[in-house]
Amino acid sequence: MMNDGDYAQQRKLLTLDDSHLARATPSKHEDAEKLGATAQPTEKKPNKQIVKKEMSTTTSKLGKKYDRKQIEKLDKQFHSELRKMFRKSNCADCGKKHPNWATLKRGKFVCINCAQKLRADSSNRVKSCMGTYLWHPDEMEVMREGCKSS
Ligand SMILES: [Zn+2]
Repeated sequence: MMNDGDYAQQRKLLTLDDSHLARATPSKHEDAEKLGATAQPTEKKPNKQIVKKEMSTTTSKLGKKYDRKQIEKLDKQFHSELRKMFRKSNCADCGKKHPNWATLKRGKFVCINCAQKLRADSSNRVKSCMGTYLWHPDEMEVMREGCKSS
């Protein structure tokens, strides 16, 4: 039971409760409108929805949702860690030095040319490490593991 509490707290820190996922999908109210039903006027619900909308989320390439503000705070740290990792790496596909793209499928760094090719298949989850995109804790973990095993 104590572990459950810790877990819940940790989860709150990094991810959002699943109830927030509902935000991304159209509301039931909209569905009712599409069906042409004269939906009963919703009175108190809108307030709650507005509050939720203000909480901005960001989704990792691995499908996990995070609080955008927390991820933005971590961005500098994550990118400097990525730089350290890719400077020590060679492109996993062609062996070129200083690859600054990543394939999250394998947790490996690749050069821009190989990234371009891998990109055609979205399952490779190709991502730039140069600061264009926010990186998320789960993605960082994949790269740390990938670098360990290289
Ligand atoms: Zn390459």
